[in-house]
Amino acid sequence: MSTEVALRDEITRLGWSMFERGLTFGSSGNISVRLDDGWLMTPTNVSLGRLDPARITRLDTAGRLLAGDPPTKERFLHIAMYNMRPNARAVVHLHSTHSVAVSCLADVDPEDVLPPITAYYVMRIGRLPLIPFHPPGDKTLAEAVRLQAGRHTAVLLANHGPVVSGTSLDAAASAAEELEETARLHLMLRGCHIRFLTPEQVAELRQRFPLN
Ligand SMILES: [Zn+2]
Repeated sequence: MSTEVALRDEITRLGWSMFERGLTFGSSGNISVRLDDGWLMTPTNVSLGRLDPARITRLDTAGRLLAGDPPTKERFLHIAMYNMRPNARAVVHLHSTHSVAVSCLADVDPEDVLPPITAYYVMRIGRLPLIPFHPPGDKTLAEAVRLQAGRHTAVLLANHGPVVSGTSLDAAASAAEELEETARLHLMLRGCHIRFLTPEQVAELRQRFPLN
């Protein structure tokens, strides 16, 4: 397992990479990693493109600040995900444009927002529930996430953005990127006659590549 110093560097590198590729803007989005005795989390009011590894927030298992800058206001989202997903080692939350656009559509299935367009979406995200709108940072939002997180590796916050967990930082980031690209495809294909994966194909993928 990576040391805390190495994880701080990984978070910084990932934040920069996501910022450079337009997956996050301003000071939006946050990244966290589970430690054996707490979490590392990106601080409040900082661009993911300009993180300082030494100032990344360190929280204990009760969510108290141990070191670094004050944590993101959205820390409750991350903690809700970790509390319900024992195998989750990292959580990525973005306001990435296409995912947010899909989170604003009125005609989606709130139990499973995006259809099975590609195999990798099914393998990395599975079913994606829509969490009804709550103000960012509000504890009612964390509770709504908690209710879905036990059954889903990722959730989509209405008119806000995705929260994606993974068994490593790489896995969470890859899944968040897969979700963003699938959201983009979904918007590109709206109004087209689409051949989705069949229920049988989806079931086989879920059996062969179970989500953690
Ligand atoms: Zn947010």
